Amino acid sequence: MRVFNFAAGPAALPTEVLEQVRAELTDWQGLGASVMELSHRGKPFMAAAQEAEATLRELLAIPAAYKVLFLQGGATAQFAAVAMNLAAAERTVDYVNTGAWSKKALTEARRLTGRVNVVADEAASNYTTVPEQGSLRPTAGAAYLHYTPNETIGGVEFPYVPDGAGVPLVADMSSTLLSRPLEVARFGLIYAGAQKNIGPAGLTVVIVHEALIGHARAGTPAVWDYKAMADEGSMLNTPPVFAWYVAGLVFRWLKAQGGLAAVGARNRAKAQLLYRTIDTSGFYSNPVAVSCRSWMNVPFTLADPRLDPGFLAESHAAGLANLAGHRSVGGMRASIYNAMPLAGVETLVAFMKDFERRRG
Ligand code: PMP
Repeated sequence: MRVFNFAAGPAALPTEVLEQVRAELTDWQGLGASVMELSHRGKPFMAAAQEAEATLRELLAIPAAYKVLFLQGGATAQFAAVAMNLAAAERTVDYVNTGAWSKKALTEARRLTGRVNVVADEAASNYTTVPEQGSLRPTAGAAYLHYTPNETIGGVEFPYVPDGAGVPLVADMSSTLLSRPLEVARFGLIYAGAQKNIGPAGLTVVIVHEALIGHARAGTPAVWDYKAMADEGSMLNTPPVFAWYVAGLVFRWLKAQGGLAAVGARNRAKAQLLYRTIDTSGFYSNPVAVSCRSWMNVPFTLADPRLDPGFLAESHAAGLANLAGHRSVGGMRASIYNAMPLAGVETLVAFMKDFERRRG
């Protein structure tokens, strides 16, 4: 039996995709071998890899001037790779701090440059807000402006795309890429670890404007050099073939769902249902400012934290798995990425109401 899996990442994958993986796991395309057992340079894998990229380009309407890279090392490796590729050591780099993940990104950048400028920090609201639209002032001549459109732990999401005012915008979209349509042309670089909306952990997708590559600082290792990777079709070394193949199936599944407009409408409805349930109860609460609540990660607390263990045990028994909040904050968190059906959120809110009635 499959549970409704609310894990933040690695997160639920579409059941249809997993079933296809199972069906072709030992004999892929009649080759008598698994995709995991074949050369990445062989025709079958090269075709699958190219199809994955083409489908992703179609889903996001990625302009031709952008390279799509399939890398390793997770979003964490990109925290460093962005600085190594886009900023000479003496260039200023701008960061927006909206919570745990932006803090990690800017901390990593500080290892590589002494000129990290935090242009906005939402500490005053305890990271329950994002900067007001129009308020960000990038540093003139900065190499880039980095922000985190969706904070996976805090559940805080930008309801707008900041204006870089000529400074290339770099976005860690790990927990929001593919959740709705996106205007890629507004960005210089987008990166995302795969393990939420893309596929298995181990793959990292980077979408980067070609004008930003080819300027890596001296000493950048080849596997982290966007130009070197782009020139080799992300196969400078052995890529994560299985994760790349699964990502291709997820992209195809997204297309079959009606593309990102349809997926985005469903995600909005799922989030609204959950927030409405929280807000109309006197028992559950979510601290995030209403205008910047995440569609993907919904943290919430119970009126009495002593009820947390009971909530977790009972929800688990009801087939609602992995609702514990991040270890740094406690409480609950429901991650409701693309693969979470509306029925999963409906089952969760019914459980929440019942739990409140019995224990609240
Ligand atoms: N950024 C964000 C927004 C994330 O949610 C995560 C992982 N949860 C990371 C970065 C780190 O990703 P990885 O573990 O793939 O390095």
